[in-house]
Amino acid sequence: MIQIVLFLLVTITVAFIATKRFNRIFRMIMLGKEGTLPNDHSGIRWKNMIMFALGQKKMFEKPISGIFHLFIYVAFLFTQIDLIEIVIDGISGQHRILRPFLSILYPLMINFIEILSVLAFIATIVFLLRRNVLRLDRFQKPELKGWPFRDANLILCGEILLITGIFLMNGADQVLQDRHYGHYINTGNLYMSGMLVSPSLSELSNASLVMIERLGWWLHYLVILGFILYLPFSKHLHIFLAFPQAYFSKLSSRGMMSPMFAIENEVRSMLGQEPTHSETVAVEDFGAKDVFDLDQRVLLSAMTCTECGRCTQLCPANQTGKVLSPRKIVMDVRDRMEDISTMSAKISVERVNSKLQFDDGKSLFDKISAEELYACTSCNACVEACPVLIDPLEIILQMRRYDILVNSSGPAEWLPMFNSLENNQSVWSLSASRTEWLNENI
Ligand code: SF4
Ligand code: SF4
Repeated sequence: MIQIVLFLLVTITVAFIATKRFNRIFRMIMLGKEGTLPNDHSGIRWKNMIMFALGQKKMFEKPISGIFHLFIYVAFLFTQIDLIEIVIDGISGQHRILRPFLSILYPLMINFIEILSVLAFIATIVFLLRRNVLRLDRFQKPELKGWPFRDANLILCGEILLITGIFLMNGADQVLQDRHYGHYINTGNLYMSGMLVSPSLSELSNASLVMIERLGWWLHYLVILGFILYLPFSKHLHIFLAFPQAYFSKLSSRGMMSPMFAIENEVRSMLGQEPTHSETVAVEDFGAKDVFDLDQRVLLSAMTCTECGRCTQLCPANQTGKVLSPRKIVMDVRDRMEDISTMSAKISVERVNSKLQFDDGKSLFDKISAEELYACTSCNACVEACPVLIDPLEIILQMRRYDILVNSSGPAEWLPMFNSLENNQSVWSLSASRTEWLNENI
C-alpha cells in the first residue's frame, strides 16, 4: 500500500511539473509570427514525418553514428511497453501484469527489449567515447563548451542508469522466479539478464533479491521521470519535437529563398509593370530582428536542434576559419527564446500581446554578430546536412534582410552590387545587353 501511495505521489507530482515545463516550450514556439505553422499538403507532411522522424532517414548519411543512434532510438521506443507495464503495476500493486495477457508474446517482448538495451548500452558507451575520449572535431566547437557539452554527457549517463535499472530488475526477478518465490511469476527465460546479471545474484537471500528487484524497478522508473522533467531544458527534446518538426518543415525545394513581395512589387513598378501581389508589407516587417519576427515553424526547428554539428562540419565558411557556425545560429535563436521566457513569465500565448508586452532592449543581433551573418555563402550545405530538416540559412537570410533593409547596414563591399542591381538589374554593372556577345560571330 505504501508503495502504491508513493508511486502515485511521485507520478502526479512529475506530471504536474512536466505539464508546466512543456507548456513553456509551447509558449516559446508561439512567440514567432502568428499562424506560421503550415498545414497544407498534409499527405506529404505525414510522409515526411514517417520518413525523417520515425524512419530516421537522414541519420544514415553517416552510417556508423546512424546505426548506433538507431539502437538507442529503437530501444527507447520499445521500452515504452515496459513503461506501460510499470505504470499499471505501480498503480495496481501487481507484478508483471501483462504476463497473463500477452502469454507467449511476453517473454519474446522482454527478451527483445533486453537485446535492444544491450545494444543501446554499447551505443551509449560509443557516444561517450566519441565526445570525451576521441573528442570528435564537431563536438569541440566553441558553441558546445559548457552546458551543451555537459547536457549530452548527462543524458548518456542517464541512459546507462536506465539500462542498469532494467537489468537489475530482470536479473533478480529471474532468480526469484527460479526459486518460485512470492508473486514472481514465470516469464520464461530472460536470456540477457539471466546470463549477465543473475549468476552474480544467485547466492543472495530472497529478501536481498526482492530489494534489488525493487531497486532496479524504481531506478528504471525514476530515471524515466527524470528524463521527462529534464527534456524541456535539453537538446534531447528532439525525441519528441522531431515529429512535429518533420511535419511542419518547409516543403519548397531546399535553397529556395522566401520571396519579398513588397520588394518585387516595387521593382515591377520601376520597370513599369503591374504589381503581382496585393500584400502591403510594413518596413519593420522586412526580415527578422528578433524571434518575434521569425515563423513559428523556425522557432519549432530551433527547439528541435540536436546540436549534432553536422551542419557546422560541412559549412564552408566554418571550414575556412570564419566565425560562422550554423549550429550556433540555431542555438542562439533557442537561447534567445529561453531568455525571453525566463525574463517574462507573463508572456501570453497570444504572440501579439507578448510582442507588445516584452521589450528588454535586446534582440537576436545581441547574440549573432554581423560577421557571422555575412560570412555565409548561402550554399545550403547546412540545410542538406541536417537530420531533422532544420534550415539555419533561413535565419541568416532573414536577419541579413533586416540588417540591410531596415538598419541600412551590411558590408561596404556589397554596396556597389546593390547599386548595380538597382541601376542595371545585374550584379556585374552590365546592363541587359551583357548577353549580346552571344550573338556575335566568334
Ligand atoms: S548556407 Fe551559410 S551557414 Fe549554411 S553551410 Fe553554407 S555558408 Fe554555412
Ligand atoms: S541544425 Fe541540424 S545539423 Fe545543425 S546541429 Fe542542429 S540538428 Fe544538427
